[in-house]
Amino acid sequence: MKFDKIDIFNTGGQPLVIAGPCSAESEEQVMQVATELKSRGVNIFRAGIWKPRTRPGCFEGVGKDGLPWLARVKSELGMYIATEVATAEHVEQALCAGVDVLWVGARTTANPFAVQEIADALRGCDIPVLVKNPVNPDIELWIGAMERLVNAGITRIGAIHRGFSSYGEKCFRNAPQWQLPIELHRRFPGLPLLCDPSHIAGKRELILSLSQQAMDLNFDGLMIETHCNPYCALSDARQQVTPDELVAILGKLVRRTVAVDGTDFQGYRRQIDEIDNELMKLLSKRMEIAREIGELKREKGMVVFQPYRYNEIMERYMKFCADARIEADAVREIFELIHSESIRQQLSVMNDNDA
Ligand code: PEP
Ligand code: MN
Repeated sequence: MKFDKIDIFNTGGQPLVIAGPCSAESEEQVMQVATELKSRGVNIFRAGIWKPRTRPGCFEGVGKDGLPWLARVKSELGMYIATEVATAEHVEQALCAGVDVLWVGARTTANPFAVQEIADALRGCDIPVLVKNPVNPDIELWIGAMERLVNAGITRIGAIHRGFSSYGEKCFRNAPQWQLPIELHRRFPGLPLLCDPSHIAGKRELILSLSQQAMDLNFDGLMIETHCNPYCALSDARQQVTPDELVAILGKLVRRTVAVDGTDFQGYRRQIDEIDNELMKLLSKRMEIAREIGELKREKGMVVFQPYRYNEIMERYMKFCADARIEADAVREIFELIHSESIRQQLSVMNDNDA
């Protein structure tokens, strides 16, 4: 996938900030938020015009009537304007209104038909498009949506990490699962990557810490929902901050350097590389032994998966975690993966021999 830099995202090393209300609610509300943001140094204004709500009956956005309000923000305040599009009709109307940046929402990214429709409507247009991650943690679906846009000739693409939905009680509205944006960044280092802490958090108190985490992970910028009267917002009231709170959050962010040439770093990195090499060697040795055990199990007519043995191994490793200051869940996940790969290897031994 090939794409160009997004010129208006060039902030001279500062994190890029896109801010504005979850939804455009009225012309006064839009102008008031935009004016306050502009005076605090924000240059890209967001507002949802068409709102994809999970349940019907909630505020579903003002629709195209709100586009002239955004156009006013652009002409009177000189800000860039951004909104979400989910259909070809949205694309046409947003382009007609002079919207500068479009974004594809999480529910839309999860639907290749909808993304294709948007991509087709954008053919021949030169506009930056930001693609939010799909609601489910599927990196291929996220990449696929961007590819559809690139294939339609869109050259300026960015990704927005807004977390992933899950079932049950949770601390975040949408679990961050940072490993996905990290993997995306690894595969496409030049792709602008923004974080939307508002939709990850679901509550304003968590926005600062999530924004800091995004900065620490070298994200290029933030999209933060901002409203002059968040408590009365017609959508996402719990997670919106005031323009002053936004400034306070941005002011507290610590920026760390990306590349450090210090010899200490080189030394540490070499050690890490050596440890990783050892881990890989050990892992392949472990798989070799697993295959040999697979042969034995086959000869003795034993089933591959022995639950008591698995539980015993897990218990043993959990004991190491506290001492090693490693999160027990992380170790569990690592060993679950290693174990499932061993099982896969043993099953393939069985199948090879049965064939
Ligand atoms: C939004 O940005 O207001 C929005 C609806 O976001 P998401 O698609 O991430 O839910
Ligand atoms: Mn929202």
